[in-house]
Amino acid sequence: MDYITKNSVMTIETQRKMIFSLKKKYPCLGVRLIGKSLCQRGIYSLHIGKSENPLLIAAGFHGQEWMTSLLALRFAELLMRAKAYRSTLCGIDAACISREIIIVPCVNPDGVQIAINGVDGACEYAENVREISASSNEKWNANARGVDINHNFDAGWNKLRSMEIEEGIVGPSPRRYGGYMPESEPETITLVNLTKARRPRAVIALHSQGEEIFWEYGEKKPPESERLAKIFSAASGYTLIRNSGLASHGGYKDWFIEKFNRPGFTVEIGKGKNPLPLQDFDGILKDTIPMLTLAAIL
Ligand SMILES: [Zn+2]
Repeated sequence: MDYITKNSVMTIETQRKMIFSLKKKYPCLGVRLIGKSLCQRGIYSLHIGKSENPLLIAAGFHGQEWMTSLLALRFAELLMRAKAYRSTLCGIDAACISREIIIVPCVNPDGVQIAINGVDGACEYAENVREISASSNEKWNANARGVDINHNFDAGWNKLRSMEIEEGIVGPSPRRYGGYMPESEPETITLVNLTKARRPRAVIALHSQGEEIFWEYGEKKPPESERLAKIFSAASGYTLIRNSGLASHGGYKDWFIEKFNRPGFTVEIGKGKNPLPLQDFDGILKDTIPMLTLAAIL
């Protein structure tokens, strides 16, 4: 039986049920509550195996991109199943995957809930979200106080802030506002703390959409990044691409590359309009599961 299925949109309650169904089926799956969002929703990490230098996969940074959470959880399920039944995943013997895989399925649970349920998803921030939404035509991607989590990491943040202002983003917004200072948001701090504590060998940040892989931060190219990026591109058919404009700074991948000088990737899954329709999910799985499995062993 599959526990992670594409039958429904990924409300935070659905995600929580999926996580704990997986834990029940595979008791050796580690599940930790690593932080809470502004609206006090849990931010979880899943741990498959145990080792130094883990691979960290994080998803659900942006509200409209909840399909990334579905993908991250489905990957966790496929990996747990292959390990439990001593079988293979994408032709790779699960016994060869000795590195710990850490999965954070949803970094921004409030943003996802607001994207799916509107202001009702924002709890005590509902009025705030209503006001911000009223002055914008953009769909909601930010957290509950209108900060874009992937603009809130401490990498070139001041430069990014100036660029946002030039684009007319001067305060809380459905997307692309980086906050009043870097790491101002509990969701950002949660991922920063996990990353500092575990010092991953590489990180993959899942976003949608575009079928693209970003692997540099400015001129910074950590050792092995290019080799891995080329392998991921070959495995997925996704295009390698350089950052430009407002996607140049402040992201998790940018911060990780700058802080650790280790490979960090942003993978934009699927192609079309966010939120991607559920019928695209099978194709996305086919493209990305081999890449994620290779990332686990390389
Ligand atoms: Zn995104």
